[in-house]
Amino acid sequence: MKKSEIVAALNEKDFSHFYEKADLIRYREKGDYVFIRAIIEFSNYCSRRCAYCGINADNKNISRYRMTASEITDTAEAAVKAGYKTIVLQSGENHKEDKKELGRIIRAIKKNQVAVTLSIGELSYNDLSYFKECGADRYLLKHETSDTDLYRSLHPDGNFEERIKCLRNIKKLGFEAGGGFMVGLPGQTIESIADDLLLLKELQCDMAGIGPFIPHPDTPLSESGSGSTELSKRAMAIARILLPKANLTVTTALGILDPKERDSAFHCGANVIMKKITPDEYKEDYCIYPARFDRTDIIKDRREIERIVVQTGRRPI
Ligand code: SF4
Repeated sequence: MKKSEIVAALNEKDFSHFYEKADLIRYREKGDYVFIRAIIEFSNYCSRRCAYCGINADNKNISRYRMTASEITDTAEAAVKAGYKTIVLQSGENHKEDKKELGRIIRAIKKNQVAVTLSIGELSYNDLSYFKECGADRYLLKHETSDTDLYRSLHPDGNFEERIKCLRNIKKLGFEAGGGFMVGLPGQTIESIADDLLLLKELQCDMAGIGPFIPHPDTPLSESGSGSTELSKRAMAIARILLPKANLTVTTALGILDPKERDSAFHCGANVIMKKITPDEYKEDYCIYPARFDRTDIIKDRREIERIVVQTGRRPI
């Protein structure tokens, strides 16, 4: 699809034809399986001040934590026992992070024969290469917006070109590369969403997460309105058409656990869900956008997600 076609599609009054096409491609490439990934938010230390993010370095209303190595590996082991086959290790971007220790944690988790995904911000080529050697399989780094002016205004410590360079390095090193962006950022246009989608294609992302912007009260964007869930689902459907083989994640921001959104979220081309398994004592302090925090019971929560997936006619894996 060309940019003009994507813009026209996103603006269509009746989008059902694109949803059907995306769902057919999803079925052809992925079958009825929905991959359920476990995510451990192991540290909320971050040196950046992204304007939309509740754990940005300027937010003094949260307590900063870093899980110990044994807390991380024990949590991962509990997830493996519950049936998860991918462990996502996520944190803020913290260049003081002990790389050697994180490498040991990755190696320990890999002994369980599961995939390890990292989502820890921009890293140098050498650090990425080190974590690849330690066994990490995938790397998530959303580009957030391809509008370079908007990117600059939202990321006082960031540089769009550096981020894209990092994504290209991730791909070059043989990771499965995950990108993505937010829908409904203040000042974002439909044209720039089309560019976001084309960028995912150009980078040949193996995974992508697309979800609505949700304002966090402790950020400079607290007064902004939320992004549209309908537009987010439309963007997801176009992503499936552009990247037939990619693993596309339904973000929790899209309301996957809200019964009203559940069915439609699964029929816009997505085939992956992430479930937070961060221990209770930490998870309220890992709040990128406002969310409801229920107590974590790794086995019970996994069964509940499996039940929801089955209810929508799909098969959990
Ligand atoms: S979006 Fe990522 S890099 Fe930016 S402040 Fe939040 S955790 Fe840090």
